[in-house]
Amino acid sequence: MNANNFHPDFLDHKIPVGISACLLGENVRFNGGHSRSTYCLGPLSEHFDYQKFCPEVAAGFGTPRPTMRLEGDPNAPRLTFSNKSGEDLSDQLNQANKRYLDQMPALDGYIVMKNSPSCGLERIKVYQKNGHPHMQRVAGLFTQALQERFPLLPIEEDGRLNDPALRENFILRVFAHHEFRHTVQNQLSMKALLDYHSRYKYVVMAHSQPAYKALGKLLSGQEKCPIEDLAERYFHDFMQAIGRPAKRRNHCNVLMHLVGYLKRQVDVEIRKDILDVVEQYRRGEVNLTTPTTLLYHYLKHYGSDYVKAQRYFAPYPKKLGIRNTV
Ligand code: SF4
Repeated sequence: MNANNFHPDFLDHKIPVGISACLLGENVRFNGGHSRSTYCLGPLSEHFDYQKFCPEVAAGFGTPRPTMRLEGDPNAPRLTFSNKSGEDLSDQLNQANKRYLDQMPALDGYIVMKNSPSCGLERIKVYQKNGHPHMQRVAGLFTQALQERFPLLPIEEDGRLNDPALRENFILRVFAHHEFRHTVQNQLSMKALLDYHSRYKYVVMAHSQPAYKALGKLLSGQEKCPIEDLAERYFHDFMQAIGRPAKRRNHCNVLMHLVGYLKRQVDVEIRKDILDVVEQYRRGEVNLTTPTTLLYHYLKHYGSDYVKAQRYFAPYPKKLGIRNTV
């Protein structure tokens, strides 16, 4: 498969993404209910092929079941029933987690349910003996195991997907992860790695210019190591670089840089108009989709193949309307 097959607007397949089963409307919660997510089951389901899993059901706790919570040391919390029976359920859950993770298909992202001692991504309370929670909050035990096994896998909570910046960043990472797996890892070569780096130049620059330079240095040939190791290090540093939402001012720098590609072919007045729109975006008067759409309109006609191939212009399907919200 080549890079063109991976244009997010024309992908001929859905991306495999794991999900807490209750978010898909499965009645697996402690009370026999579900936590159906309209966003996951709506727009995202057109692009994601969900692999659902409920750790607590897989561990055999049954549905309905008493509520559970984490207790003890926040650095090694134990799962117990909240009714203070004191029974340590951690081993039972950890074994189910391990069985699942050992055979889990390759995924490009994972959406977990908030506030769950098994699935939560953050802010899960760990109770002390006196009944009060520690100040330190943690991830649920399944999510901890998932992060340990697949440290580069994009993971997000359903609730946090309501935040436009976090949603944009998660979906960007899922598509980038998927593209790397298929266009680089599955047909490993220096050319594939350099092509990926070249396509993602402005995506990375919008997150961090120093990170883009460091990634370029890594691929410059100074590092003498097997291609497998190089690709692994590159992917690690790349996913770290795009791990947080890009700042508005960094997008502005990228957009101004891209306007430079029109210098020879496009009239100075038009370039000034585009830069005005970039300024409107900087001031928060328009969303990111306005300057990127306007700029791409001109680059499509007058830009080089290199700039037209930049993933920055289409990091995820337009249909999701994500750039209308950031
Ligand atoms: S949050 Fe996780 S453990 Fe709880 S019902 Fe949903 S999938 Fe199961």
